[in-house]
Amino acid sequence: MKNNVYSLTLPKLEDFFVARSENKAKAKILYSLLYKDKIASFSEIDIFGLRTIKMLEEELSLDELVLLEKRESKDAAKLLFRLFDGNSIETVLMRHDYGNGLCVSTQAGCNMGCVFCESGINKKIRNLEAHEMVLQILYAEKALNTSVSHITLMGIGEPLDNYDNVMKFIDIIGCQRGLDIAARHVTISTCGLIPQIEMLKNRETHSNLALSLHAPNDEIRGALMPINKVYGVKKLMEAVKSYSLVKNKKTTIEYILLSGINDSDECAKELCGLLNGIKCYVNLIPCNETSLGFKRPEKERIDNFYRILLDNGKRATIRREFGSGLKAACGQLRGGFIDKLKYSGGEQ
Ligand code: SF4
Repeated sequence: MKNNVYSLTLPKLEDFFVARSENKAKAKILYSLLYKDKIASFSEIDIFGLRTIKMLEEELSLDELVLLEKRESKDAAKLLFRLFDGNSIETVLMRHDYGNGLCVSTQAGCNMGCVFCESGINKKIRNLEAHEMVLQILYAEKALNTSVSHITLMGIGEPLDNYDNVMKFIDIIGCQRGLDIAARHVTISTCGLIPQIEMLKNRETHSNLALSLHAPNDEIRGALMPINKVYGVKKLMEAVKSYSLVKNKKTTIEYILLSGINDSDECAKELCGLLNGIKCYVNLIPCNETSLGFKRPEKERIDNFYRILLDNGKRATIRREFGSGLKAACGQLRGGFIDKLKYSGGEQ
């Protein structure tokens, strides 16, 4: 199978040319053509000789995603893609005042089994390759006629369970000759894989970390997120604290509010205690009504929870709702689409 050109960092592409007795400067030119000019085929390149074009066509592939469905609202868009092997993934664009953020999937399915997440229903089928993440950006920009400035790895999958490909992806999109999306504009959202958080901490790049915490203690978190049985809350918070200190960055604490489960005043107070001494801010996410049976708390309960955090000196926001009509929680478009395909007798 051919290597995909979007899976190559610039140094690797230079090696590719050098190994074929070509001028390595062609790698920089090709990077600009791919990521700035967004060529769709090697035959569009008129500044390389025919021999080079033929070699590229024979040895490297260019694209492998098929856009299956696009849904748009004023502030968000959801795209459903089919991968080369028939699996599907989703990508969500969110329009902010400061630019467009893209929520990228990192795996087909997910093994983490968080009970509030539709992606977790379908177990991990496989990790995505780096180019399958890069292509989500390029295809989204093309399909929505826009550009992306920030990346959040919060689509389908646990990014740190696909560590090597995710790191390669961050290196590729950070290249100034290419998409030029610096690591500081990339947020990695994790359910809490401590060994990989440690690896990330020791890396040169300075990506932002978002921790899907969702509960202030082992009892509630263990019931919501199976990973908590491997890495408990106390050790996890130590790892997050250390990451924030070394990188000198605030960690985002993601907290989905589920009515009657983790939204009490006691939970809010316990959360405040847990976060003492940690550079962070809390992103409260009132849950969308899903097919999984969870209920969104009443507005008053959400406000109370938020107020307790503020009164205890925590920085917090209640997440703006992006395209709730689009089923904007992770995995929901894909889940809904599969249901529809099944209903209409289609195939995935
Ligand atoms: S919330 Fe994230 S880690 Fe948990 S099952 Fe869903 S995709 Fe996986």
